[in-house]
Amino acid sequence: MTFLKDSLIELITQTSTNLPPDVRAAMGKALDAETPQTQASQALGIIATNIDMAQQDEGPICQDTGMPTFIVHTPVGVNQIQVKQAIREAVAEATRRGKLRPNSVDSLTGKNSGDNLGIETPVIHFEQWEEKEIEVKLILKGGGCENKNIQYTVPCELDHLGRADRNLEGVRKCILHAVWQAQGQGCAPGAVGVCIGSDRAHGYDLAKMQLFRTLDDVNPIPELAELENRVMEEANQIGVGAMGFGGKVSLIGCKIGVANRLPASYFVSVAYDCWAFRRLGVRLDADSGAINQWLYRDPDRAVERMARAEGFPLTGREVVLSAPLSEDAVRKLRVGDVVLVSGEVFTGRDAVHAYLMKNPPPVDMRGSILYHCGPVMLKQGEAWAVKAAGPTTSSREEPYQATVIEKYGVRAVIGKGGMGAKTLAALKKSGAVYLNAIGGAAQYYARTVEKVLGVHLLDFGIPEAMWHLKVNNFAAIVTMDAHGNSLHADVEKETGEKLAVLEHA
Ligand code: SF4
Repeated sequence: MTFLKDSLIELITQTSTNLPPDVRAAMGKALDAETPQTQASQALGIIATNIDMAQQDEGPICQDTGMPTFIVHTPVGVNQIQVKQAIREAVAEATRRGKLRPNSVDSLTGKNSGDNLGIETPVIHFEQWEEKEIEVKLILKGGGCENKNIQYTVPCELDHLGRADRNLEGVRKCILHAVWQAQGQGCAPGAVGVCIGSDRAHGYDLAKMQLFRTLDDVNPIPELAELENRVMEEANQIGVGAMGFGGKVSLIGCKIGVANRLPASYFVSVAYDCWAFRRLGVRLDADSGAINQWLYRDPDRAVERMARAEGFPLTGREVVLSAPLSEDAVRKLRVGDVVLVSGEVFTGRDAVHAYLMKNPPPVDMRGSILYHCGPVMLKQGEAWAVKAAGPTTSSREEPYQATVIEKYGVRAVIGKGGMGAKTLAALKKSGAVYLNAIGGAAQYYARTVEKVLGVHLLDFGIPEAMWHLKVNNFAAIVTMDAHGNSLHADVEKETGEKLAVLEHA
């Protein structure tokens, strides 16, 4: 199969860089529905610009290119071992080209394989079928939204919604709860794939499979079609909004499937996907491996531009921040302020935070800006180039962040999804702020990096290293300030109250 590997590289590249039309259409509706000049609409504006940039430059839409998951159908007689080998080679090559971030980490040693190959990565499901062509579908679902997947063992008691019983009403409550608990951490607005029934392990698999349906299709089972519509309507009333900033659009898709179950078990499994809903497919000639047809795309429909305006709409009220930051400057900031960061920032995520708990930092962090980010970087000659650099989910650093702020004098933390009470108390005590960048806007933020000034702790792998970057006009919103205020806590409380009202209406 002469063209198989190249076809698969093209599939991976397109999936990572060019959102399919159904997702674009859903995001277009979200943009139109949101109230102008709110934080949610600003977030959606950056997302739209980012989607355009990714497609124009063939760069990853989000720096977290997820766990590559392939669903392959082959005619009888096709050598699946050969197809599997071609997928592995294509994944490694796409990683080398910067279309995928090295994302495969040895769970025992913590070592990143560097090429996205490792035990059970990538994930490949094979099926035989009676068709003449090979079909390959691919989904790239990142860790932030993967961490918001949730499984309910019904009957159960749910926050704000009461008891969920073993019926469709109970399923409805579980799905609404799933959207609510994700808040902004899964980069809302998101989409949910749901499986009613099956066992624990397969239920999650089947929930993810629902994400291979187009967002605008109609469920062939009438009662599930009705439930999908109802969930869409209700989930968009609770007000999580883009990035959890509060707003009108929390969900862009709800796809529900059903499977038989054991008499004793009733699981509702929910796969939460973010707005960067990267899923495509191809039909391949079974002899040559050449692409015969793209799935999820309409060849007669040109790729539509998403952005309604260029970049981040500035009001003139933005606060410019440049490290080193003084305590005084930081204490002046309030939740809701928009900041433009220019100057030096350091990246640091899970491995860096764990390291800093036991070791002194490799740089002086007094007055610094710490960015929760695992970028896609490519070495070009002796220099490093930033290929994608959006924020990662900050809540993972909650056990460490307060210590890092207090011990090393960090004045601003940039991330997404917000942090908890311990960090909020540390911000107040030390005089520091949390800045929410727009999750998934990896191309947008990569363009704010003027220079890579250096790298520390590279042994942790590219995403986990501490990158020293010089940025210009990096836009973010103060969502936790040094006065004990947290937009995240407020939105979680308000949306919980709305869920309860919805339930008792
Ligand atoms: S958009 Fe957000 S949740 Fe989705 S892959 Fe990127 S960082 Fe993760």
